[in-house]
Amino acid sequence: MTMSSIKNELRFGMRAMLRDNFLLRRAMDRLAVHERMSVDELSHYSQLRLHASMRHAIRTLPHYAAMPTGFTPAQAAQVLREHFPVIEKATLLAHRAALYPHLGRKRPWQAAGQTSGTTGTPLTIFRSMQSVLMENAFIQRHWSWSGYTPQVTRATLRGDMVAGINQTSPPFWFWNRYNRQLLLSSRHLTEAHADAIIDRLEQAAPAMLQAYPSTAYTLAGFLQRRGRRLSIPYVFTASEPLYPHQRALIVERLGATIMDMYGMAERVAFATECEHGNMHLNSDYSHVEILDEHGEATDGEGFVVGTTYHNLAMPLLRYRLSDRTRWKPGRCDCGRPFPMIEPVTGKFEDSITGSGGAVISPSVLTFAFKGVDNILKSQVAQVGAARWEVRLLPGPAFSDSDKRKLLDNIHTMVDSGVSVDVVLKVDLPNTAAGKFRWVVNETSARANG
Ligand SMILES: [Zn+2]
Repeated sequence: MTMSSIKNELRFGMRAMLRDNFLLRRAMDRLAVHERMSVDELSHYSQLRLHASMRHAIRTLPHYAAMPTGFTPAQAAQVLREHFPVIEKATLLAHRAALYPHLGRKRPWQAAGQTSGTTGTPLTIFRSMQSVLMENAFIQRHWSWSGYTPQVTRATLRGDMVAGINQTSPPFWFWNRYNRQLLLSSRHLTEAHADAIIDRLEQAAPAMLQAYPSTAYTLAGFLQRRGRRLSIPYVFTASEPLYPHQRALIVERLGATIMDMYGMAERVAFATECEHGNMHLNSDYSHVEILDEHGEATDGEGFVVGTTYHNLAMPLLRYRLSDRTRWKPGRCDCGRPFPMIEPVTGKFEDSITGSGGAVISPSVLTFAFKGVDNILKSQVAQVGAARWEVRLLPGPAFSDSDKRKLLDNIHTMVDSGVSVDVVLKVDLPNTAAGKFRWVVNETSARANG
């Protein structure tokens, strides 16, 4: 056993002990009851949680000291809408003493979460132990939609450091026997080591794979170039936008049903894709409103605004995210009582605009790459008004005609007026957490807030 594998044994053994305890199992049992409730029963539960969160915020945060207090759970959503202001990241940064508990000083038993924020200032959120536990329970409830139980083998291809970054021979993975989990090093998912990783995955035959959309897509790309396929029944994606071209190739090469998940460090909204392909807003996780530019509720596209149910260490009320979606009417065939939303889009740093200033949909942007060969990896960046930089990691046979085809596609199928520089790169690195953004807005103009 090497030093690093001993460290991994200790790390995952401890983690299993702390996380997979009876408290978690009890929380999961409760959450399983919720998804069998009627819409009315679930709404009653949600009213109680919302009432408790609001009352707690009024008691503990100076920002809400003057708010009305004599309201019932049934009135909570209306009182919230009519009296409580919408806040956002900038409000938290500007009014720490009024919106953080204990004037912004974290207690030793509280956990701290950080928003990554590819643009702008990182933000710290205090979390209660209950919130940490519930997050895990909600994630595992989503897994259970694929038939997952702790006895099932799963693989993970995210940002975990399970092999030294300079390591050049296998294993580029760690078998966490406490959770029957094969952790793979996404940093070694490169031309030189892809075969070893694919072989190990094939041998493990996991029932599910947890991945970033970009790492699952990179894996699918290696499979495609090798004419290989894997058979992994479910792929759970999270933490990055999942683009249509990524979804299509992952489904084709991994033979998987994709179950995407939407969440954020602030933990004010949580949506999970079911086996019928619908995104369900988990209405026992938080209270979510979709609001237009003027802060009014809308049935059209609007901003996701959430109120916590489970993190009373720092109750965020009506916290507006830069993510956008809309309600999807109707009921899903899966029968769960959670409302549906359209796929979430439009984080400012994940969206680019064309020559007319309107946001270009990522699905439209994929037309740029139609029939263009010899590209191993790409990134489309907005670098100025109506100016894009397309960064390419070219394959060995990449030529000027591939570049011309790409530019021609953009100007005939995506946007005729945008100015585009194609830049060839020797590497398109991921972030420190191993994530990758296919579309990135690097201009400083903010679309909102
Ligand atoms: Zn469903």
